[in-house]
Amino acid sequence: MAKVKFNPWEMALEQLDAVAGKMKLDPDIHAILRKPRRALIVSIPTKMDDGSVKVFEGYRVQHSSTRGPCKGGIRYHQDVTLDEVKALAMWMTWKCSVVNIPYGGGKGGVVCNPKEMSQGEIERMTRRFASEINVIIGPEKDIPAPDVNTNPQTMAWIMDTYSMNKGYCVPHVITGKPLEIGGSLGRNVATAQGCFYTIQAAVKKMRTTLKNKKVAVQGYGNAGFFAAKFLHDAGAKVVAVSDSKGGIYNAKGINPETAMEHKRKTTTVVGLKGTSKITNEELLECNCDILVPAALENVIQADNARRVKAKIIAEAANGPTTPEADAVFRAKKTICIPDILANAGGVTVSYFEWVQGLQGFFWTEKEVFHHLKGIMGRAFEDTWDTAKREKCDLRTAAYILAVSRVAEATKLRGIYP
Ligand code: NAD
Repeated sequence: MAKVKFNPWEMALEQLDAVAGKMKLDPDIHAILRKPRRALIVSIPTKMDDGSVKVFEGYRVQHSSTRGPCKGGIRYHQDVTLDEVKALAMWMTWKCSVVNIPYGGGKGGVVCNPKEMSQGEIERMTRRFASEINVIIGPEKDIPAPDVNTNPQTMAWIMDTYSMNKGYCVPHVITGKPLEIGGSLGRNVATAQGCFYTIQAAVKKMRTTLKNKKVAVQGYGNAGFFAAKFLHDAGAKVVAVSDSKGGIYNAKGINPETAMEHKRKTTTVVGLKGTSKITNEELLECNCDILVPAALENVIQADNARRVKAKIIAEAANGPTTPEADAVFRAKKTICIPDILANAGGVTVSYFEWVQGLQGFFWTEKEVFHHLKGIMGRAFEDTWDTAKREKCDLRTAAYILAVSRVAEATKLRGIYP
């Protein structure tokens, strides 16, 4: 069946409105939270390798800075829209709040297809984008990070551009940097590690273990690959993985490292020896216990949600499940660990990176994971307890926790002037 037309911003508002009604949120606070604080649209003229100039469009949205500086990644994708970036910025506000780190939410995006661009073109576009959003970012204002199709190298160019404009080195303007210029140990695996901790906690609540649990992972980038690897290392059996070119399945299990090696060589997991080809849609519905959507938004809608067999869904991606699909999962009693909790490990270690940069004092990997486990464990327990108390699903519970913290902070600070 064709996918229902989808606007992530409308979905983000629908999620907020539903929880505002349930928690009887003050209507004035609700009205404030329904709007991003700031949204900047920029043009990015970029010299291409053939000598022509291409003008890309970019966005930086700051949804809230009530609990601290805005925080959120930068996405490069041909389908990026202002509404998508607004939604992602709002989700960042809730994510930082649910894990209780002192940040608000922001997000950025550039409408481009980096797969069709050279490294030089991507660098020039990135540096111009960084210059254009320079007016609203900064270590105490808004701290970007990687997202889909951006990586530590992209962050290094943004850090360098910002620092060049300031005249001195400002590593903590950005997180997800390479280690050599002030990155944090553990940041590259943090999203998946945090997601893994939440799956482990959910499995424990179901009084079972990860041993031989069948896992399917959609999206085989930073979040998806490491999630598959950690689950495999903990004794689960990864039966299906996919990327933008399609998916692969083997009921006997797929070695995540071998699949990544194949992807590195051929650009896709498809074609790995000993596996059969499946579509991304089939992956979501395959015979598995744990499903990890780790690609893009809107992949699970009411229609295919009915055919999802997994008992646990851990949203490594942002916004993979629509509110209609959520209703199906509630009825089926499927445990859906919501994005704002399941993938909060990334922003949590970004927070550690920022703290380390501000102090000029760097932690060991052991310290990073120790603190990450503590924060993720507490956030999961708080969410679980709220769900029990409010008799609701985990997404609603996570939203109640997150929105109430932001609402309280807004009330305490008051409305300026
Ligand atoms: P990435 O660019 O490293 O990987 C994305 C993967 O998704 C790639 O394997 C790509 O081939 C695949 N993909 C793209 N379109 C697809 C499609 N239509 N169907 C199936 N697969 C497709 O990105 P990432 O950083 O791993 O981010 C993935 C998701 O996780 C995004 O929703 C992102 O917002 C979220 N996330 C990432 C982080 C992080 O720290 N990287 C943190 C929080 C949330």
